[in-house]
Order: sequence, then C-alpha cells, then structure tokens
Amino acid sequence: MSDILMIKDLPINSKKVLMRVDFNVPVDQDGKISDDARIKAALPSIQWVLDHGGSLILMSHLGRPKEPSLKDSLYPVALRLSELLNKDVTFVGGSRGTEVKEKVSQMQPGDVVLLENLRFEAAEEKPEIDPQYAKDLASLADIYIDDAFGSAHRAHTSITEVPKLFGKMKGAGLLLSREVEFLDKTLKTPARPFVAIIGGSKISSKIGVIEALEKKADTLLIGGAMAFTLLKSQGVKVGNSLVEEDVKLPKLTNTLLPLDFVCEKEGELKTFTVDEGIPDGWKGLDIGPLTLEKFKSEIDQAKTLFWNGPMGLFEDPRFAKGTEVLLKALADSSATTIVGGGDSLLAVKNCGLESKITHLSTGGGASLEYIEFGTLPGIEVLKL
Ligand code: ADP
Ligand code: MG
Repeated sequence: MSDILMIKDLPINSKKVLMRVDFNVPVDQDGKISDDARIKAALPSIQWVLDHGGSLILMSHLGRPKEPSLKDSLYPVALRLSELLNKDVTFVGGSRGTEVKEKVSQMQPGDVVLLENLRFEAAEEKPEIDPQYAKDLASLADIYIDDAFGSAHRAHTSITEVPKLFGKMKGAGLLLSREVEFLDKTLKTPARPFVAIIGGSKISSKIGVIEALEKKADTLLIGGAMAFTLLKSQGVKVGNSLVEEDVKLPKLTNTLLPLDFVCEKEGELKTFTVDEGIPDGWKGLDIGPLTLEKFKSEIDQAKTLFWNGPMGLFEDPRFAKGTEVLLKALADSSATTIVGGGDSLLAVKNCGLESKITHLSTGGGASLEYIEFGTLPGIEVLKL
C-alpha cells in the first residue's frame, strides 16, 4: 500500500470528505438492525474525519435491491450511527439530485450526512450505463476515502469510478488499510507451516482461491460439501451428497481431503469412511472423527492458519461438530489465525470465539479475491 495515501495523509481540515463504507448490515422485518458490527467497524475512520475538522458524506449499499424499496433503505443505519456517534446524522432519501446537493452545501465541519442505498441507482452496479452518476457523487466533496474492504473486489461506481475523479485527493480508510496490511503481512510471507482450510458448499465459487492457496500453503485441508465433488471425480462413492456437475476442478498436490463423513438418511445418522464409500440414499453432512483427528494434527503444527468455509451443514447442530472442533483448534493454536467469509464468521460468533482469532476479515469475497489476485480493483484505483 506504499503508493496509496492513508486517511492520515490527507488534508481533512475544513474539507468535505466522501467516504465509501460498508454498511451492508442485516436488517429484520421490523427495520431493526440485528448486527451492527459493520457500522462499528467504520467508526474509527468516521471519527478521524470529524476530529480533524472535516465534514463527512457517507455512502454504502445495502442488500441486493432490484428497485428502491423501504425495506432496503439505509435509514435505520442513520439512526444507529447517530446513537453510536452521539450526534445528529442527516439522512438524505437519495444519492443524487437537488435534495442531496442542497443538504451537502449546508454542511459545516463536524457534520455527517448519510446518502440513501447506492444500489437504488442502477448505475452503482453498472457504471457504464450512466457515467454521470460517478460525476454527481464526486461533485459533492473535496476528498474521497474508501473504507469498504468488503466491497473492494467489486467494480462498482462508488468503488472504482468515483475515486478516479479526485486526482490525488483520495486514499484508504483505517479499516481498509488494516485489512490489507494484515493479509499482506501474514499471507505474502507467512510463518510456516502455513495451513489453509477451505470448506463450504460450492467448489465452483472458490476454485481461484483454492488454486492460489494450494501454491502458497504448505498444506490445504478441504472439507464441507465441496469435498464431494472432488472425491467423486476420484471415483469415490458419495451417495446423495451435494455434488456439482460440469466444474473444471483444480489440480491438487498438497491437499488433504476428508477420510470419513457423518451422513444422514431419513433422520438416521451414520458415519461412513471414504474407503467404504457412502451408500445410495445417504447424504454426507459433516466431516467424521477420523478426518477431525487428521485435520487437527495439521492445525496443531501450523504457525499460520487461514480458514474459510464451514466443514459441514453447521446450521443444524447435528452437523456442526466438524466446524466447531476445528474452530476450537484454531482458537487454541498459538499460530496467527485468519478467518474470512460470511458463514465462517457466523460460526465463530456462534461459538463465542471472536476474541481468540487473530484476524477476523470483514470481507469474505474480498479477502478470498485478495489472496487469489494479490490486489483488488478498489485498491488499484487508489494508487497515485
Ligand atoms: P462462507 O460464507 O464462510 O464463505 P460458504 O458460503 O462457502 O461459506 O459455505 C457455507 C455453507 O455451506 C453453509 O450454509 C453450510 O451449511 C454449507 N455446507 C457445508 N458443508 C455442507 C455439506 N456437507 N452439505 C450441505 N451443505 C454444506
Ligand atoms: Mg456464505
């Protein structure tokens, strides 16, 4: 990140700062935020701007709205942010147009404005259909800061187009730079042995990262449903387990696959080894005891550990053991431990082990793509 300005390098005083944050929080049917971790994660950068005499225009997406609708509004976030900052946050019901311009023109140092969900404008996700959108957003401020690590892998207007219009007056927020520095430090020259653990349902969504980790790590452990697609290609009987057809599989050399599985058939549970194969009618839903023992011994020797993707259908307590036992091994390890991924973070939270992991990455997809490509579109565009 040496060719990127940090928030601390920018002349914030009496300037208007446009900051891309990741306020993509879960909101329930009553409009209540069920987890405000992402809002809290942005507070250090927000506070930095306010403490240094800037005024702050915040922008984010929320969910995947097809059209503007109340249920995807960022309004509840404005309320929560106002509580957390203990000051008024002005919410504007859009991200372009006269009302936005008017509210922003009245801002004084220390003021905070939150724009409405950027994805209510189709041009957020498709910059090419309306290049004016980036210009409209950029016209609001003097300085651009990206603190949305979790979105930095997306070539969207607010991530890759708006910063191009700020010349040298752009940089990285504290969350973005912390994530990148951490991933750089631990994964580019990892303390060895470096053991990576990948799980989850679909191998097709993680082929790139599996290939990258296969090269970087000393050992790659693969669990979760994705193991069945690999095992089936080796001629193993996988019964009714989840298998993806027509995927180009990565070449694996230093990878360990599961040795056994906890399987279910009509409510009955039974463990089958890979050697005996999973009979028809049975579905593999968690890794079994032999696998756990093998994986745990690899984890215990590691000096760097990266984990993404549950080992089984962990939402069902009957199939959560593999994920929980591995996670506890990670938590007990003296190695540097990194966990990324939406469902993986949920598993960490369910086990109450947040404080025992060295680094919880706020961006699932972003951290995987950063490992795969060594950079992200939203980071490249900040370079001077
Ligand atoms: P992350 O969000 O951490 O990147 P993924 O989204 O790739 O993880 O995968 C998580 C999902 O994979 C979970 O919903 C989990 O239930 C599912 N999963 C893992 N193993 C199995 C399995 N053996 N059978 C069915 N689903 C599985
Ligand atoms: Mg997921």
